[in-house]
Amino acid sequence: MINNIRPVSRKYNLLLICCFACFVHSCAQTKKIPLNKYGLEVVSDIKLYRQLVRSGKVPGLFPIAQLPALKTELRYAGTNNFMGKILYKEGAAAYLISPAANALRKVVYELKEKGLGLLVWDAYRPYSTTEEIWQEVRDERYAANPTKGSGHNRGISIDCTLYDLQTGTALEMPTDFDDFSEKAHHSFTALSATVLKNRKTLLDVMEKYGFKALSTEWWHYSFPNTGHFPLLNIPFKALR
Ligand SMILES: [Zn+2]
Repeated sequence: MINNIRPVSRKYNLLLICCFACFVHSCAQTKKIPLNKYGLEVVSDIKLYRQLVRSGKVPGLFPIAQLPALKTELRYAGTNNFMGKILYKEGAAAYLISPAANALRKVVYELKEKGLGLLVWDAYRPYSTTEEIWQEVRDERYAANPTKGSGHNRGISIDCTLYDLQTGTALEMPTDFDDFSEKAHHSFTALSATVLKNRKTLLDVMEKYGFKALSTEWWHYSFPNTGHFPLLNIPFKALR
C-alpha cells in the first residue's frame, strides 16, 4: 500500500542539499588557469593544480618510477647533461600525467617480456626549466620554445632508452642523450645493424602504445595532447 512507503527522511534531504552545495561551491572555487606573458595557460600554483586534478580538468602527475622494468637517471637532476649544471635542484622524480603513464605501463610490460627495461632520462619538466634551457639552446629542433611550451611541461613527453634487464646495461643507441646532431635523427642510418635494431625496438613499442616519435631526437616520445592539457610549472618538491 502506498501509505506504507516511508517518506524520504528529512536527514537524507539535508544530506543531499549539503552535497549539492559543496559541489557548487567547489566548482565556483576552481579558479581559471592564469595566462603567462605569452598568453599560455600555465599552472604554477600547487593549490590550483590540486583543484584542477580533483575536478577532473587536469589529469594528475603519476610517479612512473613505480612501474616495473623501469629505472630513472634524471640527467637534469645532475651535471651529466649538455648544460653541465643541475637544473632540477631538489626532489626531482619522473612523472607523467595519467593517460601517458597508463600507456607507458603497457610499454614496460611488453619490454619486460623481451628481457628489456626502460631507462628514463627525463619526463615531466617544470615550465621554468624549459625557459632556462631556451636561454642556452635557441633552436626549436632541440629545445622547446617557451612561447609554445613543451610536451615535457604537460607531463606527456618522455626521454628514454632501453636497458638489458639481466645486466642492467643500457643498449647501444645512435648517440647519448641530448646529442644535438644529425646522428640523433631517426632518418640517420649510417649505424651498425645492432644500433639500428635497438632504436627500432624502442620506436616500435612506443608507437604501438600511442606515443609519437620526434624526428630529430631518437630518445624523445610524446603522448598526443588530446585533452589540451595545460602547461605545468609545479616544482618537484611540491609534488612529493
Ligand atoms: Zn624530450
